[in-house]
Amino acid sequence: MGGSFDPIHLGHLVAASEAAHRFDLDRVVFSPTGESYHKQTDTRAPSEVRYLMTVVATAADPRFHATRVDIDRPGPTYTAETLKDLQSAFAEESGGQDAEWFFITGADALADILGWRDPDRILDSAHLVGVTRPGHVLEDPGLPQDRVSLIEIPALAISSTDIRRRVAAGAPIQYLVPSGVAHLIDKYRLYRSA
Ligand code: NAP
Repeated sequence: MGGSFDPIHLGHLVAASEAAHRFDLDRVVFSPTGESYHKQTDTRAPSEVRYLMTVVATAADPRFHATRVDIDRPGPTYTAETLKDLQSAFAEESGGQDAEWFFITGADALADILGWRDPDRILDSAHLVGVTRPGHVLEDPGLPQDRVSLIEIPALAISSTDIRRRVAAGAPIQYLVPSGVAHLIDKYRLYRSA
């Protein structure tokens, strides 16, 4: 599961759990993105802190794991590289065992995939799962239907943008993020300015 996770929230966790259920997944590996390539102006948390929040948020669920592959790779995060790194790590760890791969992310992020680096390689190596907010209408990005699935997740009414705004405005974020994530936001004084 790829995302900025700036911060990770309960909508992401519900989406991962729902995708795991629908596709009978053994694990969901959360990969926070590395360096930003399009968001130069907002108050993003550093990648190490986004990773730390992801570790804390996923700690209690045995199916969930966090990976550093994207934050440790220099330069922008390309999904083709994310998948390549995760697949080679898994091949090494499992002694070459076969696995079926899914790439889960926000459906609006996925809508641009044909403009990403190596879209054919991504489509060859994983089934794509786009998770959507209720009422969100997706434009058809022209992807092969048998390689892409969309799931509507009511809990995705929660958004990272809204949480950052709430923190900046001094509004509560309790029950929108796991409590450990709320503690980290407070400890590192994240998102204080709008
Ligand atoms: P983003 O701009 O942070 O998010 C776009 C929208 O999708 C937001 O509404 C966001 O909601 C939602 N979203 C993002 N990740 C999600 C997730 N895991 N679950 C549910 N909703 C999610 O998107 P991004 O983080 O840059 O990109 C998402 C993924 O696509 C990353 O893994 C990134 O590496 C990959 N990507 C790859 C390329 C490429 O290969 N060239 C280009 C763009 C993106 P929230 O803010 O609430 O999360």
